[in-house]
Amino acid sequence: MNYAALVLALLAGSASAFTFAPRSRIATSGKTILKADLLASQTGKSAIDPAVFDRYNAIPNPPGLVMAEYCWIDAKGEVRSKTRTLPAKKLEAGPSGLPNWNYDGSSTDQAPGDDSEVIMKPKAIFKDPFRGGDNVLVLCDTYTPAGTPLPTNTRHKAAEVFAAHEAEIPWYGLEQEYTLFNLDLVTPLGWPENGFPNPQGPYYCGAGASYAFGRAISDAHYKACLHAGIEISGTNAEVMPGQWEYQVGPCVGIDAGDQLWMSRFILARVCEDFQVHCTLHPKPITKGDWNGAGCHTNFSTEKMRKAGGIKDIYQAIYKLGAKHSEHIAAYGEGNELRLTGKFETASIDQFSFGVANRGCSIRIGRDTEKEGCGYLEDRRPSSNCDPYVVTGMIMETTMEDVEVPEIKASNRAEAA
Ligand code: ADP
Ligand code: MN
Ligand code: MN
Ligand code: MN
Repeated sequence: MNYAALVLALLAGSASAFTFAPRSRIATSGKTILKADLLASQTGKSAIDPAVFDRYNAIPNPPGLVMAEYCWIDAKGEVRSKTRTLPAKKLEAGPSGLPNWNYDGSSTDQAPGDDSEVIMKPKAIFKDPFRGGDNVLVLCDTYTPAGTPLPTNTRHKAAEVFAAHEAEIPWYGLEQEYTLFNLDLVTPLGWPENGFPNPQGPYYCGAGASYAFGRAISDAHYKACLHAGIEISGTNAEVMPGQWEYQVGPCVGIDAGDQLWMSRFILARVCEDFQVHCTLHPKPITKGDWNGAGCHTNFSTEKMRKAGGIKDIYQAIYKLGAKHSEHIAAYGEGNELRLTGKFETASIDQFSFGVANRGCSIRIGRDTEKEGCGYLEDRRPSSNCDPYVVTGMIMETTMEDVEVPEIKASNRAEAA
């Protein structure tokens, strides 16, 4: 990093020039750190001529060998990775057949310099959509050399919670929203430099050159996820221009968090290829009337999905309501900027639920209400939430054997 960029980063109050900050905080500098084209106005431009790289990527592996990209979650909630060569036959037994590995935790704020080794244990294997062939992505969780889960290893606790309630067969559908920026980190994709686009309205699920910005990225990510084996169930353009969503699930228990984390890694890699910055910040634009980004979490147990399950859904909602502030505290950083009661959100301070009401903390779909069984949607988690924490906590709270007060539904007319 050059000196000017360093000063700029320090002025912006961030640890690195490339750390994302809400636009209003860094927009006034008038300077950009890295100036990319406005991506032929929207779809991005490959970092290199793809034909050059393809020549090498097409070289087959020696028989019986694969490249395994070991991925882990760092202290900031971003996925990092490094690669090793492995005998293909080690993949046959699943993650437990793969060797543990380690990384330098002092470079990721996860270990002191004088005892820097962090141990990675493989937990889930996906096909590698970038290298193709039999190569794999390996999602790991993290431990000290003595075998204690790192504080950032939230998977460990969640896996214990799910193991304790396996018979419930919990399903999760996670709606991951994200926002694309040019590499100046201040201009969302498709927005004019130092200005604002026309107001929200036509962008949600919109088509056309002046409405949809970054569709190629959304589609590339979709394909890559399908190839990897992620149960991505759909995508859509969001209300704010340059913002998109994809859904993962329904997945059972810990698998939901595993798949969502790997889908985020794939998103980062796709955006790297398109030379576009992706942020999971819940309120990337604070000035003006722009939607934030969430990670709505749809949840059901087997009982909820069966006839009469609505009773269990209501009980779960009352229990979630009784622990509103604990859940809010764990649902993502910066969420207070998003949960304002405007832009299809409920106030952060007040728990609410309703049928088909997008202005509530928790929504029940019309079909669920009509059929008397189905699932609930927790609309509170922010786009940058830790899905292990969110899914594990919903399980834990809703399985508690406690008496909780009933909460009255707010069934207003459905918002947009
Ligand atoms: P919305 O109408 O809120 O935009 P989406 O269609 O974006 O909803 O996402 C709903 C998610 O919920 C999908 O991932 C879907 O697979 C998932 N889902 C569907 N049925 C269930 C269920 N019974 N339990 C948990 N998740 C479910
Ligand atoms: Mn959705
Ligand atoms: Mn959405
Ligand atoms: Mn939703």
